[in-house]
Amino acid sequence: MRIVQKFGGTSVGSIERIKKTAEIVQQEIARGNEVAVVVSAMSGETNRLIAMSKDMSAQAPAREVDALVATGEQVTAALLAIELNRLGIKSYSFNGNQAGFRTDSSHSRARISGVEGDHLIKHMQRFEVPVVTGFQGIDPEGNITTLGRGGSDTSAVALAIAVQADVCDIYTDVDGVYSTDPRIVRKARKINYISYEEMLEFASLGAKVLQTRSVELAMNYNMPIHLRSSFDLIPGTIVSKEDPTMERATITGVAYNRDEAKVTVQGIPDQPGIVASIFGPVADAGINVDVIVQNVSEQGLTDVTFTVPRGDFEQTMTLLKEICSSMHASNIIGDDTVAKVSVIGVGMRSHAGIASQMFAALAKNNINIQMITTSEIKVTVVIDENYLELAVRTLHTAFGLDDAEASDLS
Ligand code: ADP
Ligand code: ASP
Ligand code: MG
Repeated sequence: MRIVQKFGGTSVGSIERIKKTAEIVQQEIARGNEVAVVVSAMSGETNRLIAMSKDMSAQAPAREVDALVATGEQVTAALLAIELNRLGIKSYSFNGNQAGFRTDSSHSRARISGVEGDHLIKHMQRFEVPVVTGFQGIDPEGNITTLGRGGSDTSAVALAIAVQADVCDIYTDVDGVYSTDPRIVRKARKINYISYEEMLEFASLGAKVLQTRSVELAMNYNMPIHLRSSFDLIPGTIVSKEDPTMERATITGVAYNRDEAKVTVQGIPDQPGIVASIFGPVADAGINVDVIVQNVSEQGLTDVTFTVPRGDFEQTMTLLKEICSSMHASNIIGDDTVAKVSVIGVGMRSHAGIASQMFAALAKNNINIQMITTSEIKVTVVIDENYLELAVRTLHTAFGLDDAEASDLS
């Protein structure tokens, strides 16, 4: 087998952990497999580097921020290669450029355009281990770029595709994908198998266990992901194509995202073009709008409410206040204390009434729903963030997802 193994921040968080990680790689080589590794920076390191750049300047050029944060992964890649060599396994570290990761030029959120990984395959075939820095690449002008937070997952999947691996093993600090974040719900249940489609919803709705783009890429190239723990080497969760013969629950899991803010444009004339006049400038500023609700108009005037990532809240408010009068709106109001909760499951396609069941469960706990959006396989609500944990637990129980054997202390 040919395997790409990715180790996240906690798996390379200290010298001791890097030694453990090297042993995991060694075991795979001992089984006769060809292995390439992708590493994250030590846990906390990327945050530390970002904070340093902010301390230096609030307007640090994006190119330099990327040059700075990309160093975190170079440290762990070299250390792991050193340890593998100590164990008698020939190993070479490669940074994004050396590993052939080509990206576009959008600093801090670059997209991979290709991986020239043939030289890595040659090493793998000789049972030598390339250790590649995750999260980074190089743009057409030769600038260092990074792929967005959590981007090492995407590096790993892209490398697995480039070297035609059989599987991409993603090692982290949980032993699989759970029906919801196990940090919030103790009774979260481990999912042994999940389809790309559901995992994509999970990831994009806030389950930060895999970067969304990594799932997208794996789905497009049909690359199976095995998400598992580097602390406990038991089988984890397989993310792959849907198996149509499988019996499944209606709801697979509950995802949440605190990184939300809500903006309302009030008293805007209800006529063609109004929505474009709001979202055009917001999109031009590179801000991603998520849930959108437009009210029924009263006396020719309406309100439009939408959510943006919390980090873009201030900028969105400033922008809309500037164009408030040219949009003929009466007022702009905002709230950056909201959160999003979603129930997800491909089983929803064949089951009616999931949304109403969800609303009833929330109502029973006095949780007010501010906005709603649905797709074929998910229902999402926006609520006050103070009720977030309660909402996640309530829905987890209401949809029968609680693991009966887990302790009740959540
Ligand atoms: P790494 O540094 O290895 O990339 P991350 O912190 O990015 O690790 O992702 C693992 C974390 O994702 C877990 O510690 C867990 O708290 C969180 N998480 C959120 N939602 C889920 C979920 N549904 N299943 C498993 N883990 C989840
Ligand atoms: N080190 C980067 C981050 O913390 C990338 C990653 O860990 O996936 O976001
Ligand atoms: Mg991660």
